[in-house]
Amino acid sequence: MSLYWETEHRGFRLGFTSAETGNLSLNLGEAGSAQDHRNRLAEYLGHTELKFLSQVHSADVLDASGVPVTESPTADAWISPDGSHPLAIMVADCLPVLFYAETAQHSPLTAAAHAGRPGLLAGVLENTVEQLREYGGESITAWIGPAACGDCYEVPEDMHAELTADRPALASTTSWGTPALNLRAEARAVLETAGADVVDISGCTIEDPTLFSHRASQQQGRPEGRLAGVIAPAAQ
Ligand SMILES: [Zn+2]
Repeated sequence: MSLYWETEHRGFRLGFTSAETGNLSLNLGEAGSAQDHRNRLAEYLGHTELKFLSQVHSADVLDASGVPVTESPTADAWISPDGSHPLAIMVADCLPVLFYAETAQHSPLTAAAHAGRPGLLAGVLENTVEQLREYGGESITAWIGPAACGDCYEVPEDMHAELTADRPALASTTSWGTPALNLRAEARAVLETAGADVVDISGCTIEDPTLFSHRASQQQGRPEGRLAGVIAPAAQ
């Protein structure tokens, strides 16, 4: 298996999957296949299990250390206050954002967030940075993975006018000249304002057929599926 992009950072492996890993949503595809893909991804990362959230486009951030192993809790971001919990987040056009921070004593903290239009505008990224700081996280780095780009993410004109009025970074135009939103640029602006160092992995889910895209599955008939952003302690 190879991921769309991955790196090692201070004893952690983090990255973003492509369609090659397979669909990771239990609500899509053949029964059992997503669980097999999840298991294979966990194994690839050197872990026995990889847990996912039930995502609802909220701005809620959950502490992964309090979650029973059998549960898939509802939230759109989660944090591992000591970095020990492998964290995964699912997307297909929304932004996957992975976080790493350290305390003043150099203990690691990790987080993963799902930032689509509603969650991004409701503050899921600011909330994640705030939670990292509450747990003592300093020098925060945020990796933004592949998502629908500003050239492709078309929205109705009235939505564009309403949302971009006080968020200039969000304003964009599709490559065919219609109103669009640049979620990546807005996420970058939000994270930088919150004091995080941003690493932009780039990549457009709608344009790149090696990724999964909800819009492209609806409009171009590409296979429906969900990608993941993952951050986990590197196996010893
Ligand atoms: Zn694009």
